Amino acid sequence: MTVIRSGRISFYAQSDVTCYLLHGTGGDLLIDTGLPQTFRGMQKWLCNADLKYVFLTHAHPDHDWNAAKLQRTGAKLLLSVHDMDLRRNFVMQRVMPTADRYRLRNIVQNVGGRFCKSPPYEPDICIGDADGGLLRTLGFDAEIIPLPGHTYGSLGILSRGILYCGDAFTALWHKPDITPHAVSPALMRQSLQTILRLDPQWLACGHGLPVRMRDALPVIESYLR
Ligand SMILES: [Zn+2]
Repeated sequence: MTVIRSGRISFYAQSDVTCYLLHGTGGDLLIDTGLPQTFRGMQKWLCNADLKYVFLTHAHPDHDWNAAKLQRTGAKLLLSVHDMDLRRNFVMQRVMPTADRYRLRNIVQNVGGRFCKSPPYEPDICIGDADGGLLRTLGFDAEIIPLPGHTYGSLGILSRGILYCGDAFTALWHKPDITPHAVSPALMRQSLQTILRLDPQWLACGHGLPVRMRDALPVIESYLR
């Protein structure tokens, strides 16, 4: 199923992966790039966009698969310096289950991840720890928020009450939920605290449709308890 929406939150959702578009004064920014089967439909969705930047929330293949292709269209790629080692190398940051019920699923992730390699790419901009304000300098009303835990380099973007949070939180199962895997569950918990502190109106997750913070709040609070 494909869901396309434009408006306060512009997104393209297909195959359980959701990509978002931010408008800036000097062009647009795509957040995450989807899977191989996402590309054609996403390209159509982007046909009226002035795509200048592609921001990867993290370097897992379901987020960075189409990065190289989009870079060839002239867009500049942005990725955290802490996920550089993760490109095409899932096991560099082996994930752990965030709850007992994900133990089996987690084994499958670590085994399957070994064979899942996105086409190679080099980011144009490596985002470091002091780069929270970088998107403002590029013309976006947006701040970069480090949300490590799912991967060491996981990043979010806070813009106008919406936190684009990648896999720091999920709506994969059509409801707000804790992401099943993390390279560091302890760091992931800290990032969930960060989300609580920021208290956005919406969480725009990398999987599933955007969820209202008021619906995510009880899920996060009960996990952190
Ligand atoms: Zn991921």
